[in-house]
Amino acid sequence: MHVVVLGAGYAGVTLTRKLEQSLPPEVTLTLVDEADQHLVQHEVHRVIRRPSVTDSIQVPLDSLFDRCDVVAARVEHVDTDTNEVELDTGETITYDYGALCLGAETAFYDLPGVAEHGLPLKSVADAEEIRTRAIDVIESGADAQFVVGGAGLSGVQVAGELATLAAEADASDRIDIVLLEQLDSVAPAFPSAFQDAVADALADRGVDLRTETSVVHATESTIETERHGAKTTVDADLFVWTGGIAGSDVMGGDRPVVRNDLRLTPTTFALGDAARIVDADGAAVPASASAAIRAAKPAATNITRLIEWELARAGGLEPRLTPFRFDVPGWIVSVGDGAVAQVGESVVTGAAAKGLKASVGAGYLSSIRAIRKATELVGEELGA
Ligand SMILES: Cc1cc2nc3c(=O)[nH]c(=O)nc-3n(C[C@H](O)[C@H](O)[C@H](O)COP(=O)(O)OP(=O)(O)OC[C@H]3O[C@@H](n4cnc5c(N)ncnc54)[C@H](O)[C@@H]3O)c2cc1C
Repeated sequence: MHVVVLGAGYAGVTLTRKLEQSLPPEVTLTLVDEADQHLVQHEVHRVIRRPSVTDSIQVPLDSLFDRCDVVAARVEHVDTDTNEVELDTGETITYDYGALCLGAETAFYDLPGVAEHGLPLKSVADAEEIRTRAIDVIESGADAQFVVGGAGLSGVQVAGELATLAAEADASDRIDIVLLEQLDSVAPAFPSAFQDAVADALADRGVDLRTETSVVHATESTIETERHGAKTTVDADLFVWTGGIAGSDVMGGDRPVVRNDLRLTPTTFALGDAARIVDADGAAVPASASAAIRAAKPAATNITRLIEWELARAGGLEPRLTPFRFDVPGWIVSVGDGAVAQVGESVVTGAAAKGLKASVGAGYLSSIRAIRKATELVGEELGA
């Protein structure tokens, strides 16, 4: 039998490592990704201010696995009826059980000018582009404004990096940072105490947070916004768009809904940002690295259980599958040279939050046995 995991982000790497442990030895395992490195994406905004972070947040895929066959190719199409995967190499691979872990793309919602002028942030190359453009503006010596559209986890962290980049260049007095959010709070999907602390951390760094303000149109140098029906145009010498996510092209831009067994079809699973997951409590799981990592465990258990049942040829009813229940101890974001953490009911800022942030990133890297990268990341985070 053959198990194929598509995408080597948090979901795909964690799932593959678990499957290496749990699958019977006669089952072959393949992981496909268009990149040959695993990107620790929740740290990619750091590259805007600290290009030296790049090395510690990319891990060569061939260093992570023991028995899995890693294929470097772009997935062009997945047929979940026939279990066939077409690759850009012209090859077609088939699977008995598959997992879609292809992450998500930036959603531009057909807002005029936004895809054309808004810089996305999903990759190291995106972060380098934002850094280059920001530094050009800062070094020009002119008064300027940087606008970030969307105040979820990535938008907050981009605004924080840009504000601190300007401060480190002694340019805070002439570079304004505006963070736009169409809902009524920063980090809209998170607890209110966390939202308040993040808003304070942004204000401390001079970020002008404008909630209930939608981006409706962008040009090369302006952003048109709408608030309670009133339109305003703001200047933008740099525009970063972190306003939402859509499914991968391979999924036709869709993020299909999966229930708590993480199955899209009887033999295809979907997890991480690629799917909209409703967990065992009926709750919508937030698209996040935390959720992608946590979903990998029940997905591996369920794939293994189904395969063992098929191999045993005992017939009868399908085995009972383990439901995914999303439960996290808290949330952490960096805000430039600071951080905000919510642990249980408590909100923590300052050195304690920075320490937590460093330990979460390093803990993840250690869990996928990238120990040297983990040590480097702690140094980068605590020095930031
Ligand atoms: C700037 C930023 C900050 C963030 N901060 C946080 C945070 O603080 N906390 C948190 O929990 N989350 C955070 N997130 C969200 C988090 O990074 C994502 O939720 C997480 O990466 C989702 O994991 P995934 O495995 O589903 O997808 P990804 O990590 O995106 O992995 C998808 C993989 O699929 C591969 N792939 C995609 N398409 C193809 C294809 N067609 N063919 C082959 N391979 C393909 C990609 O190369 C990639 O390796 C942040 C995101 C960003 C951008």
